[in-house]
Amino acid sequence: MDTAHVALGMPGIIPRGGGDVPAADRAFTPGAGLLDQFGRRATDMRLSLTDKCNLRCRYCMPENGLDWLKKDKLLTAAEIARLVGIGVDRLGVRELRLTGGEPLVRADLVDIIARLRRSHPDLPISLTTNGVGLARKAQALADAGLTRINISMDTLHHDAFLQLTRRPFLDQVLAGVEAAAAAGLVPLKINAVLMRGVNDAHAAELLAWCLDRGYELRFIEQMPLDADHGWTREGMITAAEIRTLLSTDFDLSVDPRARDGAPAERFEVRRNSSTTLLGTVGIIASVTEPFCADCKRTRITAEGKVMSCLFSRTEVDLLELLRAGSTAADDDAVAARWQDAMWAKPKAHGMGHPGLGDADFVQPDRSMSAIGG
Ligand code: SAM
Repeated sequence: MDTAHVALGMPGIIPRGGGDVPAADRAFTPGAGLLDQFGRRATDMRLSLTDKCNLRCRYCMPENGLDWLKKDKLLTAAEIARLVGIGVDRLGVRELRLTGGEPLVRADLVDIIARLRRSHPDLPISLTTNGVGLARKAQALADAGLTRINISMDTLHHDAFLQLTRRPFLDQVLAGVEAAAAAGLVPLKINAVLMRGVNDAHAAELLAWCLDRGYELRFIEQMPLDADHGWTREGMITAAEIRTLLSTDFDLSVDPRARDGAPAERFEVRRNSSTTLLGTVGIIASVTEPFCADCKRTRITAEGKVMSCLFSRTEVDLLELLRAGSTAADDDAVAARWQDAMWAKPKAHGMGHPGLGDADFVQPDRSMSAIGG
C-alpha cells in the first residue's frame, strides 16, 4: 500500500496558492460562487463555533477530551458575522448551519444568531446541538432568529446513553428537546448514531418515539471520524442494517420528494401492514451509500479553516486574512481564498464508492468534533 495512505500526520494547511490549490493569488471571481472542478457549487455553509464539547461520545471524542483551541484562536462573533456575510453576499451561500464541538457551550451563541439574523433576514439558520443545557436557552435562540434545530440523541435509555456519551445527561437532553419544540423550533430533527451492541436494538423504539411527537429522526452511519481511530467497517451499523432493524416494526418506502443534495435519504414510515403515513425517517449513509456527487457543503472550522469535505486532509486558513484587514478589498481576498479551497474539493471521499473500495481512504486526524459535524 502507498505509505502516503497510511501515514497519519497533521492535515496539510495550505497557504494561499500552495498544495493542491490552483491559481496562486487568483482574484475573486464574482458570480462563480463556491464552484469546484467537478461542477458542484457549495451553497450550504457549516460553521463550527467551537471545538469544545461537554459529552464524550465514543464515536467522536476520547474519554479525556482533546486539546481545546485557545480562545484567541477561535473565530470571534464579529469574524463569524463577516465570514457569513462574505459567504452570502459574495459566494452564493444560501443556508447556514452552526455546529461544533457543542455550540451551546459558547456564551455568545444567542448574540451571534441575533447578529446574523439582523444582517440576513431571510437566511435559514439552523443549529446542531447535543441538547445539554438547551432547555434554558431554546426560547432565547428562537427569539434571536434561529430557524431550525437538530438535536443529537442516540437512545432513550439512560444506561446506553451513559455508555455512548460517557455522561449522565439524558434527562437534560430530553428537556432540551421539549423546550425546543415548545419554542417553535420546528420541524425538529433528532440525530442518532447507532453502535453495535449498545443502542442498535433501540432504533425502532427511538423512531416510534419521534413519530409520536412529530420529530424527524435521522440515523447517521458511524463514520471514521473518531479521535481514537477505533472505527471499523465491520463494526459500523450500515444503512442497510438500519433499514432491517426498523423493518421489525415499520414499513419504509422512499420519500418521493426530491432529495436535492440533502445528506439524508428520506423514507416514508408506516406501521407494518398499515397504510397510514406516520411521518418520515432519514438515513445518512455517508460510508456505504455516499452522495459526494451531489454535495453542496462548505465547512469552516472553529478556527476559520475551510474544509471542502468532512474527510478532507487539507485545510485552507481564512482567519489569517480576516485578521489582516477589514476593507471590502480584504473581503474579496477572503472570498478568493475560499473559492480556491472549494475548487480543490475532491471528487469523492474515497470510501464506499462503487469500484473504489476503501483503498483511497485515509482517516483525517481531526475528529468530527474538531471539524464541525
Ligand atoms: N455537539 C453537537 C451535537 O452533538 O449535535 C454538534 C456537533 S456533533 C460533531 C454533530 C453530529 O455529528 C452529531 O449528531 C453526532 O452524533 C455526529 N457525529 C459525531 N461523530 C460522528 C461519527 N464518527 N460518525 C457519525 N456521526 C458522528
